[in-house]
Amino acid sequence: MTSNGRFCGSIDITAQRERGFAELERTEFDALIIGGGIVGTGIARDLALRGLRVALVEQRDLASGTSSRPTRLIHGGLRYLEMFDFGLVRTDMREREVLLRLAPHLVQPLRFLMPMYGRGVLYRAKLQAGMQLYDALSFDKSLPTRQWLNRRQVLRAEPGLNPVDLQGAWQFYDGQVSLVERLVIENALDASLEGAVIATHASATAFVRDELGVVRGALVRDGMSGREVRVQARLTINATGPWLDMTTAGLRRGRKPLLRLTKGVHLVVPSATRHAHVLFARNDGRLFFVIPWLGYSLVGTTDTDFHGDPAEAAATQEDVDYLVEEARRAFPNGQFDRIHYTYAGVRALVRVESTSTGKVSRKHALHDHSRREGIEGIVSVVGGKVTGYRAIAEEVGELVARKLGQTDDRGSITQQRPLPGGHLDDVDAYVEQELWPRASQLGLDHGQAQHLGRVYGSLAPRVLQLAEQDPGLTERVCPEQPGILAELARCVRDEWAVSLGDVLLRRTPIGLHACQALNCLDRIAERMAHLVGWDSAEQARQMDAYRREIEPMRRYSAATTPV
Ligand SMILES: Cc1cc2nc3c(=O)[nH]c(=O)nc-3n(C[C@H](O)[C@H](O)[C@H](O)COP(=O)(O)OP(=O)(O)OC[C@H]3O[C@@H](n4cnc5c(N)ncnc54)[C@H](O)[C@@H]3O)c2cc1C
Repeated sequence: MTSNGRFCGSIDITAQRERGFAELERTEFDALIIGGGIVGTGIARDLALRGLRVALVEQRDLASGTSSRPTRLIHGGLRYLEMFDFGLVRTDMREREVLLRLAPHLVQPLRFLMPMYGRGVLYRAKLQAGMQLYDALSFDKSLPTRQWLNRRQVLRAEPGLNPVDLQGAWQFYDGQVSLVERLVIENALDASLEGAVIATHASATAFVRDELGVVRGALVRDGMSGREVRVQARLTINATGPWLDMTTAGLRRGRKPLLRLTKGVHLVVPSATRHAHVLFARNDGRLFFVIPWLGYSLVGTTDTDFHGDPAEAAATQEDVDYLVEEARRAFPNGQFDRIHYTYAGVRALVRVESTSTGKVSRKHALHDHSRREGIEGIVSVVGGKVTGYRAIAEEVGELVARKLGQTDDRGSITQQRPLPGGHLDDVDAYVEQELWPRASQLGLDHGQAQHLGRVYGSLAPRVLQLAEQDPGLTERVCPEQPGILAELARCVRDEWAVSLGDVLLRRTPIGLHACQALNCLDRIAERMAHLVGWDSAEQARQMDAYRREIEPMRRYSAATTPV
């Protein structure tokens, strides 16, 4: 830090963005991707790695949509077996292995228990068959196979579990992506390393069409300056998740919506269990989870029809009551009503009329508007899970290469290529051998080295490098958390973050902790102001915007949750 309190090499966000928009305007892209969730960024990565010129525009921040609101599991999904979606489960099991390998810092094995209570023989036989099938569909997995635990073993493993009528539990393993937001960021990073232009707070407001009606790109408005640019592309990929019908409203006038939207709510509460649990709600028999997450318990989810703007989705009292009641039934001593915060996401499901929400398939579909509506130049991705995003992106990549007549298409290499932070085999070993010696030189403690390894993987040395160049950046962002200012510098400089919400909620895990950074927001805003040159009015505006952003998450926060 310099004597006037500014950091060395203060970052000029406006200039960075202007360069990006100028490039958007002057280039003719092979593909323009609309939407910066896991699907859009995954597609950008796949296409850029095929050597195509790619642009991606996101109306708010990367991962600000559904992709930051899931249960954070990389799983085949036991529930989909009930729906006979074997193809989906098999693909996702394969993708689980791919992600465990390519992003070992972000995706980790998670031990689950599925407790069984005194229900009928038929019911137990059905679950046993389900578990067998789940294992069979992941025959090539690296994770341990299922195991039946008797009542005594279960209660030893999870002493807080309701013992009344407990028969035993199935133990099995799936994947957890605690910081799914970073999975999105790392896909965008890799795409940009391969030349893709990524613009955030950049909204596609209309499609550009030629005299024959072919879509040739989109008009894109910079949400920060208000400026509008025309982005030209040979092909436009609509990856706007639950916004898909809104985005294509002008193209598909009078046609039926492609999506069915359903809302899912999660509660973040004090840690209530040692392990992850799959449970069946007594109220309606639905499957829900109680999962260890960042030192808390994550409880979810609900599944109710949703209408309106997905950005407005939030928990209701009814959602909260349902989850608290069901979780408490399973873990009577859990403090489920001491809610730290909630989050709600909107599923974009392929529209099927007259089926209950839980029964609608989670399988994605590619909607080629030329085949369905006679509109050339645009393809929409309908639905899809985080787990399968890479495979979806590969499928889109193949379609794009075909449509663009890429005879020299290299094919997808995303099944082999690690994500940018995934160039390591074992995170703990990497921390001990690579990060800890370097971090300790900077006066960081071991917990901070572990934090850097788990959040950034093999990108962590880039964070340390910034701190080595400017020792002021070794300061903690929040006194109670391991994160350091160099992380904020990196995510503003290299990861498209422009606001407090971007850095606290979608680049670092600081805003995902119980107090959501409200305890030290002034301090963080001040540090960010030094980093990026905000004046005091902008600093105040940023704090207001952050408080407004997390307000829907805190409507049910217990008075005891620290603020
Ligand atoms: C409650 C819940 C739990 C889930 N749990 C899991 C799970 O455990 N595991 C799993 O694999 N999957 C899970 N899913 C599914 C998964 O979260 C989604 O399928 C996935 O995140 C969808 O990603 P996406 O990129 O399609 O959509 P999004 O993440 O919503 O991205 C779409 C983006 O498009 C942007 N956009 C919209 N309009 C425009 C425009 N005009 N211009 C520019 N940008 C625009 C939006 O801002 C948004 O960021 C869950 C979903 C929910 C709702």
